[in-house]
Formats: sequence, structure tokens, C-alpha cells
Amino acid sequence: MSQDSQLRETICLLAKSMFDRGLTSGSTGNISARTSEGGLLVSPTGTSFGRLDPARLSHFDRDGVLLDGDQPTKEMPLHRAFYTTRSTACAVVHLHSCHAVALSMMPDVDEDNFLPPLTPYGIMKLGKVKLLPFFLPGDPAMGDAVKGLAGKRSAVMLANHGPVVAGKDVEAACNAIEELEDTARLAMMTRSFDARMLSVENVKALVTKFDVEWDA
Ligand code: ZN
Repeated sequence: MSQDSQLRETICLLAKSMFDRGLTSGSTGNISARTSEGGLLVSPTGTSFGRLDPARLSHFDRDGVLLDGDQPTKEMPLHRAFYTTRSTACAVVHLHSCHAVALSMMPDVDEDNFLPPLTPYGIMKLGKVKLLPFFLPGDPAMGDAVKGLAGKRSAVMLANHGPVVAGKDVEAACNAIEELEDTARLAMMTRSFDARMLSVENVKALVTKFDVEWDA
């Protein structure tokens, strides 16, 4: 199996796994990954994460020309914004995951650091998550907002919509977005209580020990 056939299989397998666990439903969510030639494989528009066909993924060359497969997700500008601004990004995934969306609607969330410091992995895998405003689906302004972060964030939350995470490969991006949803779920579960969070010192120690991107 060629490198890119394996990549096609991995994209579809991980997307189905997330769909099967209710992390995004219907025909929501989109995913993309860098090919060995520097192009992109992208989930087609209107497809379900539960039923992606490895042979029909939208396949772009390194110049952004669609070589084969179906038409891509309408969120291409969002995906491209991560690849353009982060040299380490080799995969991008976007979900409509319920708890992250719920947390984005809460009036007291920190726009610059969307996830409260509840567990170490949320910090280690995501760094600081930026909450972006609401955009109409498919609005290229979403891509502009990500570009405006100048590659400093690997994860953003689109308010009232869903998270978007870039990673060094498909597994890393999927693992990180699952961590984002889990942390948001914990935040929603514990927000009515005076939950003990990680201290400022705990966060500082994690950022230093695990070399987390944690810009000021
Ligand atoms: Zn969406």
C-alpha cells in the first residue's frame, strides 16, 4: 500500500471512530491532511464522517489544484489558513462536538484561553485555545481570523459552531481535538461547582516540562 493509500485509510478510519462516538454527527465535520507530495487530501463537501470513502477524498496538488476525488468541504479557507501559517501542520480537523459548542456559548469564557485549566492533557495537547467569534459556515473570513493568529495557535474554537485543530499528523490532530471536547465536557460538568482547577504554578510547570506553545 502506498504512503498516500495508508493516509486515505487513516483519515477515514479516524473520522468514523469520532462519528461512532458522537463527536460529530450527520454530515458535519471536515478533515484534511498533507500528502507525501506536499498536496492535500480533504473530506468532500456534504459527506458524513461515518461514511467517508478513501477513494473519493478530494485530492489537491501542492499548488492547490484539485487532481481527483469529489469537491472539497466548503471550509477549505479554514484548513488552508492553518497550513499557510503553521509549518508544523500536516493535518487539520473540525468537529461540531456538543460540549465544546456549549462552552463557547457561556458568557464568562476567556476568549484568549477558552479551556479552563482542568487537566494536564488539555494543556499539553492544545496549548492555549483561542475563541473566535461566530461566522456563517463557509465564510472565508474564518480563514482570515486564523491567519490573524500568525500561526501561534494550533487550536481554535468557532463560537456557536465547533473546534478546529491542527496537528503534526492525522492522529495527533484527532487526539488533540478529542482532548478539547473532553476538557469542554469537564468544564460544563463542573461549572456550577467551585471546582478545584490546576494552579498557575501547575500550568507553568506543565508548559515548561512539555514544551507547550503558550504565547503571552
Ligand atoms: Zn462546521
